[in-house]
Amino acid sequence: MLLSNSIAILKGVGEKTASLLRQRKIYTIGDLLYYLPRAYDDWQTNIKLKDVRAGNIVVKCKVRNVKSERRKSLTIIKAELYDETNSIEAIWFNQSYRVKQLSEDKDFYFAGNFAFNYGRYQLSNPSVIVASDINNFSGDFLPVYKQCGDLKSKHFSKIINNLRSDFATIPETLPTDILREVGINLPLKDALYKIHFPETQQDVEIARQRLAFDELLAWSLSAELNKRENLRLRAPSLTFNLEIMKKFVANLPFDLTDDQRLAIFTIAKDIEKSTPMSKMLQGDVGSGKTVVAMAVSLLTFSNNFQSAIMVPTEVLARQHFDEFIKILQPFGVRVGLLVGGLTTKEKSDMQDQIKNGQIDIVIGTHALISDKVKFARLGFAVIDEQHRFGVNQRTKLLVSAGDNLMPHLLSMTATPIPRTLQLALFGEMSVFNLRQKPKGRKDIITKITRPVSIDSVYEKIAEVIKNGQQVYYICPQIDEEEDAENIDADMKKVKKEFQHLSHLFGKDNVAFLHGKMSGKEKDQIMTNFSNQKTQILVSTTVIEVGVNVPNATLIIIRNADRFGLAALHQLRGRVGRSDLQSYCFLVTTTDDRPTQRLREMEKSGDGFYLAEKDLKMRGAGEIYGALQHGALSLRIATFADTKIIAKSNKAAQKIIVRIETGELDLRKFPDLEKAVLQNQKTTLLN
Ligand code: ADP
Ligand code: MG
Repeated sequence: MLLSNSIAILKGVGEKTASLLRQRKIYTIGDLLYYLPRAYDDWQTNIKLKDVRAGNIVVKCKVRNVKSERRKSLTIIKAELYDETNSIEAIWFNQSYRVKQLSEDKDFYFAGNFAFNYGRYQLSNPSVIVASDINNFSGDFLPVYKQCGDLKSKHFSKIINNLRSDFATIPETLPTDILREVGINLPLKDALYKIHFPETQQDVEIARQRLAFDELLAWSLSAELNKRENLRLRAPSLTFNLEIMKKFVANLPFDLTDDQRLAIFTIAKDIEKSTPMSKMLQGDVGSGKTVVAMAVSLLTFSNNFQSAIMVPTEVLARQHFDEFIKILQPFGVRVGLLVGGLTTKEKSDMQDQIKNGQIDIVIGTHALISDKVKFARLGFAVIDEQHRFGVNQRTKLLVSAGDNLMPHLLSMTATPIPRTLQLALFGEMSVFNLRQKPKGRKDIITKITRPVSIDSVYEKIAEVIKNGQQVYYICPQIDEEEDAENIDADMKKVKKEFQHLSHLFGKDNVAFLHGKMSGKEKDQIMTNFSNQKTQILVSTTVIEVGVNVPNATLIIIRNADRFGLAALHQLRGRVGRSDLQSYCFLVTTTDDRPTQRLREMEKSGDGFYLAEKDLKMRGAGEIYGALQHGALSLRIATFADTKIIAKSNKAAQKIIVRIETGELDLRKFPDLEKAVLQNQKTTLLN
C-alpha cells in the first residue's frame, strides 16, 4: 500500500465520501492515515459512579428515567445513569434516537465529559455502547476521530479498519540506517498501525513518539538547509552609527533596559553582515520590543535604506506610526503609514512615495504586501506579532525588496517558544530574549472573580475612573465557524454588557469595539480611548495584540475560562504599561471552582513561566497537545518532547553531512523532501 495512492481506490469510499474527505484536504491514503485520532475511548473501566470526578470518563452502568423535551429547535434527552453506588445525569442534544436505544434492562458503556453545566454536574453527549456489544469490537480501547463534515468518527474507523491488513506493506519513508543510529526502532508501518489500532495507552505513546520524530526531523532538517541557503543570499551591509544612536537614546523619554540595549547592539552587529539577518525578538508583553525595532530602523535610515514594519491590525499600525513620528522626527526621518483604511488616493500616493524613496520608514498592515508596493531600497523588515501572520504573507514582505538584495528581517513576538524547540527550529543565534521589564513596572494584581461577586468589579471600575485612569472590559466571542448561532447570542450578551456599563458610568464614557467594525471605526474608537475621551472600552478580543494605552490600569476579562493561558496573558498585558499600579479581574463563567489555568494566572505575571505551565498542564491531559505558533504548527510533537527533539536534531545533522558527501539523495525520500520544502518556507522567516 502506498501512502501516495488516492483515497478513491479504497473500499468503502464512494464518490460522496471521497468528496467529503477532499473538503478536509484528505486526498491520499497518507493524508487519511495521518488524520490521527483526537482521543481514545478507553472502555476498560471499572469505575463506580460514586467515584466519578469531573473530566473525561467512561462508566459501565444501567439507565432509567429517559426523558425527551423540546426547547425551541433543540431536542434534549435526559437520563439517569445509575449503579449500586450512585446515580448521575446524562444529557444529549438533538439525538432523539437515544430514547429507543437506552432500554432499562441493558448494561451500557457511556463515555464523555463529566462537567458542571447549567448549575449541576452532567455527562454531556456521551457516546453509548451496549455492553454486550463490546466483544464485537476490535478491542476495548478505541480511537475517536474528529468529525469531518458529515463523516463521523465511526465512519473513519470503518474506512481505516478496511485497510487493516494492508498496513504491513507501508514502506519506510526515512533512511533506515539513520533511524537506527539515533535509536528510533519502530518502523513507520507499525507506528501508523498502533496509532489507529492500539491495545493500550502505551501503544499510543510509542507510536506517537515515532510520528513526532518524523515531524520534528522535517523541521530540524529544513532549519539546517535554510541556514545554508541563507548564507548564499545577499543583503545590504548596514553600518553602526554611534552618533545617531547616542542621540536616539538621549532623546527617549525613558532609559532603555540593559536587555533592550543588548538587543539593539546584537541586531546592529547582524545587519552589518552582507548575509540577511533572520532574527526573532521574543519578549513578554510590555517588555518594550517596539523601541528596539525603532532603533534599528533609524540605523537603517542612517545607511540610506528603507525599513518596513508590518503589524497585524490597523489600530496597532496607527499607534506605532504616531510613536515613530514623535521620536524620530528630530532625525529628519520620513515616516509613512499604509493601511487598508486609507482612501484609494492616499494609498496610491503612499505607494508612490515608497517607490520613489521619499519614505524612509513605512508602518502598515497587510496592505504592505500588496503587489502594488515596491520599495526603492528596502534594507530592514520587521514583522511585529509575527505569529499572527501566515507564511506566505511573511515571505511576500521580503520579496518586495527587489534589486537582488534581501532585507534583514526581525520578527517580534510575545508568545515564547521553549528553548529546546527554539534550538531545533531556529538554531542558537537567531533568537533574542528580552527578559527584563522596563524599570518601575509594578506587578499586575490579578484576581479571579465569580459572577456572584460581579458587583465588586463594578466598584473597582468606579474607583479607577474616579482616579482618572481607564478600563478595558473584555467579553469574548466564540469564533468557531460552526457556531453561527452562538456568535449571535454572544454578541447580544456583549451588547447588553455594554448597555449596562453605559447605564452605570454614563453613555459618553463607555465605548464599544468589536471585530465586525471597519478599520476606520475601530481606529476612531481606539484614538478616543487613547486620548482619554472615553474611560471604559468594552471590547471583544480585537484589542488583544499590541495595543498600548499606558493610562489604562484595569482590565476585566469576562468568561475568562474560555481563553487559553497565552491569550489571557496577552490580554492582561494591555495594562501594567506604566508605573501606575494595574489590576486584572478574571471573571469566570460559572460560580464553580476556578480552573487551574486561572489560578496560575492569579499566581504569576511571567509569560515564560506561564508558557511552560501551559505546556505541562496540557501535556498531561491531552494525547495530542498540538503546538501552534503562527505558521509553524506541529500536529503531533509537543513542547515536551525534548528527547525526541534532540534525536531529530542529531538525525538532521547526519543527513546534512551525507547529502554534502553525496551519500544520500533527499529525492530518494520524497515524503521527507516534500515536508522539508514546505517547512523551509516557514523557518526561513522566523
Ligand atoms: P511590547 O514588547 O509588548 O510590544 P511596547 O514596545 O509596546 O511593548 O512597550 C510598552 C510600553 O513601554 C510603551 O509605552 C513603551 O514606550 C514603554 N517602554 C518601552 N521601553 C521602556 C523602558 N525601557 N522604560 C520605560 N518604558 C518603556
Ligand atoms: Mg508590541
